[in-house]
Amino acid sequence: MEIGVDRSLCEANAVCVGFAPDIFDLDDDEELVIQPGPVLADRIEQVTDAVKGCPKNALFIAG
Ligand code: SF4
Repeated sequence: MEIGVDRSLCEANAVCVGFAPDIFDLDDDEELVIQPGPVLADRIEQVTDAVKGCPKNALFIAG
């Protein structure tokens, strides 16, 4: 499972960071940073909640 973001939709409000702070972060320019690589099994629930919880529907499961 990997996560992607449509940056044209993301408004950097950090809702996903709240759901899964190990996976999502905002950099100094308020750009969303996603931990690269496959999501570890014990983080899948958090990440799924973040995808569903993004108010802009900017996150998606990439594979
Ligand atoms: S919750 Fe959605 S809009 Fe907010 S920072 Fe994350 S991806 Fe961007």
